[in-house]
Amino acid sequence: MTTQQYDSFESFGFKPQILRGVTEAGFTTPSPIQIEAIPYILEGRDLIGQAQTGTGKTAAFGLPAMNRIEIADRVDLLVITPTRELATQVSDELFKLGRFAGMRTVTIYGGQSSYRQVDLVNRGAQIVVATPGRLLDLLSSGRLKNFSPSIVILDEADEMLDMGFLDDIKEIFKFLPKERQTLMFSATMPAPIRDLAGRILRDPVSVKVTPSEETANKDIAQQYYVIEEHERDDAILRLFDSEEPSKSIVFVRTKKEADRLSTMLIAKGYSAKGLHGDMEQKSREEVIKSFKNNQLDILVATDVAARGLDVKDVSHVFNYHIPFDPESYVHRIGRTGRAGKKGIAVTLVTPLEYKELQRIKKIAGSDIRRESVPTLGDVRKAHSGKLINSVLNARLNEEAQHLLNALEEQIDIQQLALKALSLLIEKQNITGPDSIGLTAQRLEKMLNDQRRDHRPSSSRRGGAKGGGYSKFRKPYGGGNRDRGSFSGKGRSTRYEDR
Ligand code: ADP
Ligand code: MG
Repeated sequence: MTTQQYDSFESFGFKPQILRGVTEAGFTTPSPIQIEAIPYILEGRDLIGQAQTGTGKTAAFGLPAMNRIEIADRVDLLVITPTRELATQVSDELFKLGRFAGMRTVTIYGGQSSYRQVDLVNRGAQIVVATPGRLLDLLSSGRLKNFSPSIVILDEADEMLDMGFLDDIKEIFKFLPKERQTLMFSATMPAPIRDLAGRILRDPVSVKVTPSEETANKDIAQQYYVIEEHERDDAILRLFDSEEPSKSIVFVRTKKEADRLSTMLIAKGYSAKGLHGDMEQKSREEVIKSFKNNQLDILVATDVAARGLDVKDVSHVFNYHIPFDPESYVHRIGRTGRAGKKGIAVTLVTPLEYKELQRIKKIAGSDIRRESVPTLGDVRKAHSGKLINSVLNARLNEEAQHLLNALEEQIDIQQLALKALSLLIEKQNITGPDSIGLTAQRLEKMLNDQRRDHRPSSSRRGGAKGGGYSKFRKPYGGGNRDRGSFSGKGRSTRYEDR
């Protein structure tokens, strides 16, 4: 089978009502994982699909699965996802793609009464999208009627492992029909996931889409700033003032940090909220919703809380601390630069963390440039340029004329202009220490020490070289959000519970 022949959604031979969902969704070209996986799934094969976040995996399994199942009063397709947010996301996507085929989808998750969910299933649905815990409850108590899925899909399997759901998953499969088609999707393939695949899949084909080195992360400009430990807050604030992100995620390590930092940002007048695992499901959802709807500019999140979220138009990702492992680095920065848009990833590192940064650079194959935090003067200067422009281009409003008439008698025009400009400048509220980050001397010394340590492996990654920020754009933005191009991950440490 050559992949050449599958260059359009028509070429897969979907039913017209499925094809209509694709067209209405605005998809024109299948993504690489879709080209690889769809033909096998249509043939009825079991399959392991490996591709990074944002590459269109949902449609890759959803379209052929929906094409194959029967429209009867029983559940014929089951999708298991690790979190409620992902379950909702998958449901929405399946609804979007399958609505012309008359698919009814029910989403099943914990933290809410199960009565309604069970009732909806029992009244006749073809698709169930579920999280493991609640699904296992309902299966073991025998409350789901007409539930015999002939296609079962495990989505984001590596995350199930990270979240400790592996035993639940194994248990769930005891309640599922033996005769079935099983598909497993994952960004990475750690050993326990391979084992699981060996148990639940039958003679599976493996398809894997890895971004070529050349294109990895090309849409994300990666920068790092070397600062002192006590300068983190000042640095973040200064970078907000200089970068002026339209929508950003700040990654932190602990729930406490998420709360503290979001409170600090709000106090400084930013529209920010925290997102972490201790929050009530409902308030988490509200935060995500307002972030998606652009009612919220800054999300301060822990890794776990932000995993897998598909939010468009995130202009900046900030790593308040350096992430624990290369995988989470790649994962975090992949929240920006989505769908062919440009993104900027900023990492704060202290001299102590610098070595760790080098490791991430090496393993993740990332091109991260060193930059200096702009001084107060730099930022004010940049802003005054903008201020001049906006004053010159400001539209006159009638109220202003009235105010001027009233003021003219009390104050000289030049004085008035100065006062008005001062008010505008004050409103910009750019403060903080003049310079932030290591002095040139300390930085030089640190880089020298670093070079000495690495002498045998040459000077290639000694300092601020690199710069992979290209103007390259792909027609389909899916291929370059790397989170799994390296192997041997093992279980990563999560500090969320602190
Ligand atoms: P993944 O599960 O791999 O992280 P998703 O399935 O959530 O990715 O898809 C990411 C986004 O890309 C979604 O908004 C989806 O609607 C969109 N998408 C998927 N396939 C295509 C395609 N062929 N063309 C355009 N957009 C697509
Ligand atoms: Mg997905």
